[in-house]
Amino acid sequence: MQDTLINLAYLVSSVLFILCLRGLSSPENGRRGIFLGELGMLIAVLATLVRKEIIGYEWIVAGLLLGSLIGTAISANLPMTKMPERIAFSHAFGGLATALVGITEYHKLRGLFGAVQVGVAHAGPVAEHELNRLTMGALGFEVFLGSLTFTGSIMAFGKLQGLITGAPVTWKGQNMMNIGAFFGTIALLGYQVAFPDTAPQWMFFLMCASGLLLGVLAVLPIGGADMPVVISLLNSYAGLAACATGFALKSNILIIAGALDGSSGFLLSMMMSKAMNRSFANVIFGAFGTGEGTAAPTGDGKARSFNEATVEDAAAVLSASQSVIVVPGYGMAVSQAQHAVRDLAAALEKRGTEVKYAIHPVAGRMPGHMNVLLAEANVPYDALYDLDMINDDFARTDAVLVVGANDVVNPGAKTDTASPIYGMPVFNVELARSVIVLKRSMNTGFSGADNELFFLPNTMMVLGDAKKTILALANEVKGGGGH
Ligand code: NAP
Repeated sequence: MQDTLINLAYLVSSVLFILCLRGLSSPENGRRGIFLGELGMLIAVLATLVRKEIIGYEWIVAGLLLGSLIGTAISANLPMTKMPERIAFSHAFGGLATALVGITEYHKLRGLFGAVQVGVAHAGPVAEHELNRLTMGALGFEVFLGSLTFTGSIMAFGKLQGLITGAPVTWKGQNMMNIGAFFGTIALLGYQVAFPDTAPQWMFFLMCASGLLLGVLAVLPIGGADMPVVISLLNSYAGLAACATGFALKSNILIIAGALDGSSGFLLSMMMSKAMNRSFANVIFGAFGTGEGTAAPTGDGKARSFNEATVEDAAAVLSASQSVIVVPGYGMAVSQAQHAVRDLAAALEKRGTEVKYAIHPVAGRMPGHMNVLLAEANVPYDALYDLDMINDDFARTDAVLVVGANDVVNPGAKTDTASPIYGMPVFNVELARSVIVLKRSMNTGFSGADNELFFLPNTMMVLGDAKKTILALANEVKGGGGH
């Protein structure tokens, strides 16, 4: 009876996970999706906690308290702009957890270092089955992918945080080395699957070590500009590792949740690759993109002139425009300017100006970053346009307001073959009658690429924090600037 109820709870959780993903497919239903996912996870955890195989709660409660304490402390003080680092960190711990569970299961079933196997009473659901080929295969994938996700995510965290160079680290024969390590690991796994009871135990640990090494090797050659794809790919690996854990532990809910996580992460990676016009192989082996730049773009090394405009100049252009497209980027997130942007748009609309928002798939630092911020500021969803939907509109638009965006409006991505973002689809903002760029300096964006847009004759640079500038712009547009 208890088992039936637990399985029923798992079924409800699975349905909630699917509804969660469905909700997340649009910003309008995103919050509801997240809530359903959280509810599903709560039900799954509670159902697992009442399993009869659990013989004591001391360690579970201790882990729960410690994890909640650390998780809350990190999240409470985390600015939105650090979300990708936070996600990379979570993937690292997810990977580590699955690898450790896999090692523990292996120990239970094979008895490491000559230890006696743990008895059924202590072993939960797993000790009821021996180390057969299927379990060995699942355990192998689990520890390999878990270890790879752990070090890969730590590396991604280090690159995003600037602790490790964001530039691709490459050397001769690197691809062959990675491919060799990968297939070597698969061969080790194959042997262990063929002889699960007699294969030497060092093979299992060599497989873990290889996973750890491959995590480092796989992320080293990836340039900063490709980090969005890598993060979602690591998300996918973490899900697949959890799915393999489900097979090893014979847990249906883990299999389902892991498969959903793995497949959605994989689809997201593909969508991000498409958005950046990269093939998967290119992202993994291409070694392009550079670290976050700080040097002012000078092209030939000399300072170049650009049109520095005042808030009043920019407000005059906006007020005289019939159509305005707002292009938000990472700088909007940094300055938390989304509410001010909505107020400025409202002031313009009151004057009869049509305002649209152009949302680039990789703007900001995480998928959907701009959508989340603008939804938080109650910007209507139907005012947001994807790249494909709006790119032809720029040529017939009076003014474009670039709010802390850089790489996603860099025309060099279309023409400069030496650019680290060459080939990435970007907004055709330079075709608009006037372009107003709000940023603090002439520094480069995430990719480190110089941006010719800032030096074009129809571009006005209004330097300063985006939020402060937009508040002042809204004030001017509303007529509060004393004119
Ligand atoms: P970006 O190229 O990083 O440029 C952001 C600009 O915002 C910077 O040039 C910066 O210039 C400006 N800025 C920063 N703080 C500001 C503030 N307080 N006020 C005004 N401006 C400010 O951003 P993007 O155009 O959104 O492009 C995103 C980039 O990040 C792409 O290269 C993408 O591949 C990468 N990426 C995306 C994701 C993702 O999932 N979306 C994840 C990781 C990486 P100043 O310093 O001069 O102010």
